[in-house]
Amino acid sequence: MDEFSLIDHFFKPLASKREDVLLGIGDDAACVRVPQGKNLLVSTDTLVAGVHFLPHWDAYDIACKSVMVNVSDMAAMAAEPCWVTLALTLPELDKNWLASFARGLKDSFSPYNLTLIGGDTTHGPLSITLTILGTAAEGQTVLRSGAKPGDIIVLSGDLGAAALAIKFLDHKELSQPEKTELMNKLLHPVPRVDLINILRNYATAAIDISDGLSADLNHICVASGVGACLNKEAIPVHRLLKKYCADEAVDLALTGGDDYELCFTVPEHRLSSLMNEFQNAHLHCYPIGVIEKASGLRIKDANNQCHNLIPAGYTHF
Ligand code: ADP
Ligand code: MG
Repeated sequence: MDEFSLIDHFFKPLASKREDVLLGIGDDAACVRVPQGKNLLVSTDTLVAGVHFLPHWDAYDIACKSVMVNVSDMAAMAAEPCWVTLALTLPELDKNWLASFARGLKDSFSPYNLTLIGGDTTHGPLSITLTILGTAAEGQTVLRSGAKPGDIIVLSGDLGAAALAIKFLDHKELSQPEKTELMNKLLHPVPRVDLINILRNYATAAIDISDGLSADLNHICVASGVGACLNKEAIPVHRLLKKYCADEAVDLALTGGDDYELCFTVPEHRLSSLMNEFQNAHLHCYPIGVIEKASGLRIKDANNQCHNLIPAGYTHF
């Protein structure tokens, strides 16, 4: 099997029919139709073996994760994910690995009606680069740069499960079902595309928590030219993190990353209406702090004492 039959066999079948794909896999470039009045959004994420995943992980899980982290970037922009390209670097041509990988892609594309429109296949150390393309009506994307002093900082879910899975999976006291639950959180994060409409209606800025809350909130602050003060008691922490690492729980939630919840800002006068929307949709969200004029991050402890918070999270260099 050569590179071309590999593409035909494993990846062409993933090009599900979308009528907006004018040209998919097989030519020098793909061609898609962007509806009038919509903008095209593009985002790329690379997963490198030994950095973002362990080489012995199931290829199915690696594929799912690489799709989900990309879909999450679209959710954070309040954009609808549509098309994907895949740049795959493989150390060897392992048909079983490729079959699981392709199955993982297929299963994670289907709930979002995503389709594969192209890519590149090369030989080298295992790495997976997905580019996701999505659309949003003009003026409806939510950027990192729109937060204003007085806005409330909101989180879409609890944090820290992925960090716990990475750091403490071998913790002796974790039960098997708990380990499974944590690994599932790490391998199969659920991108919050369910919040796209809410973000469009309420958020002044948004980001997904891929590097850790403090690092990612800092991106919003820098882009918006503001600062933030978090309320330590209000930060939602995954229950297993509380159970096994109570002392470090908030720190891990602040710096752990890989959670793929959304952090967004909302004008204060719209908060109660936002909370109602979440309640009506049987969802939870957590107001965790406020945007301030002064730059930098701060955190208030249980005694209302304010401390400076150094943004920390995952960085590659
Ligand atoms: P080129 O010679 O222009 O680099 P390739 O031979 O790499 O083209 O690819 C041939 C076709 O197969 C192109 O349409 C490309 O987008 C597609 N393709 C290559 N690798 C992949 C992949 N891993 N997944 C999906 N499509 C791919
Ligand atoms: Mg090529």
